[in-house]
Amino acid sequence: MPKIASRLDHFTESVIREMTRVANACGALNLSQGFPDFDPPPELVAAAHKALDDGFHQYAVTWGAPRFREALARKQSRWMGLDLDPDENIVVTCGSTEAMMTALMTACNPGDRVIVFSPFYENYGADAILTGATPVYVHLRPPDFTFDPDELRRAFETGVKALVLCNPSNPTGKVFTKDELGVIAGLAREFDAFVVTDEVYEHIVYEPWSHTYIAGLEGMFGRTISCSSLSKTYGVTGWRLGYVIASGEVIAGAKKVHDFLTVGAAAPLQEAAVTALEFPQRYYDELRAWYTKLRDIFLGYLDRANLSYIAPQGAYYVLVDVSEFGVTDDVAFCRRLAEKAGVAAVPGSSFFHEPVNHLIRFHFAKRPETLEAAGERLLKIREMI
Ligand code: GLN
Repeated sequence: MPKIASRLDHFTESVIREMTRVANACGALNLSQGFPDFDPPPELVAAAHKALDDGFHQYAVTWGAPRFREALARKQSRWMGLDLDPDENIVVTCGSTEAMMTALMTACNPGDRVIVFSPFYENYGADAILTGATPVYVHLRPPDFTFDPDELRRAFETGVKALVLCNPSNPTGKVFTKDELGVIAGLAREFDAFVVTDEVYEHIVYEPWSHTYIAGLEGMFGRTISCSSLSKTYGVTGWRLGYVIASGEVIAGAKKVHDFLTVGAAAPLQEAAVTALEFPQRYYDELRAWYTKLRDIFLGYLDRANLSYIAPQGAYYVLVDVSEFGVTDDVAFCRRLAEKAGVAAVPGSSFFHEPVNHLIRFHFAKRPETLEAAGERLLKIREMI
């Protein structure tokens, strides 16, 4: 029999999504794969019903329905401090997952080197390999998960085509400061590299931190490929609406990649999502307050359970240190946690390039009652596991 492609030997299926299957199989509360168990805003759901009734059943323009791109250009221009053109600067994709793949395929030739911070969201390793690029890992160091500028410079000196930046960061919850972004931007300019961002948590940032778009820093728009989605901001991870924002030249390339990868994101959902993109500032203030409340509930339980963790500045994840359990295989530990304690988490090793076995990741994008139920179980973790 013919053999499947050898590039598939270099990565596994997603551990994050596998943990959701484990949680479902054993009926555990799923704090592994990050998605909410509460509904999106009712106006948005009503808009989706209306879009189906209004007959949006056929392909939209491949790089995005015009009304969606216009609304997105208005919203992102405001937030990013840029003047985005809906035709020139945007490609609408099937989630940020496709956006990142499209961005890397647009930026990189096979054999190019791409800097990935470790820990990293597990897709980036696979994205690089599927693109034919080689990841070059640079450490983010706990407790604040900052990078060593000299280590970053040495990575650039190896000759890199792009750097992947997840900000706010999954899984660490780090929000990169303006100064840190300035260092990255300076090196990207000096070594003539792209910065490919994943900014899906752009609106989930806790006081006193705030999000800076690297594309908005001086001289960066031409070399930044900004990826994000509506999944986290509006609680619609299953709608698969993402996008790439970049210069006209980059977007001309990205349109070609996207066209042949997926043709387009769901047409009726793009129509419906215009409603969300037009939400007033109040929506974003309330979103921040809501996630602050969920974070405080969950971290409160971790405190009471005497579990040590690194408090997130943004996004909705927390890395918890489980060294005290003598963990040598964090995948097996997470399976046991789901089966015995009834709470699913993601093994930290799936985010690190270096061997790390003492961290697990919980997400807290769940209703207060779900977090309380999970928290109660975690209070008894030492008896259950
Ligand atoms: N970003 C989510 C997480 O890290 C998962 C997203 C996905 O599975 N596509 O859990």
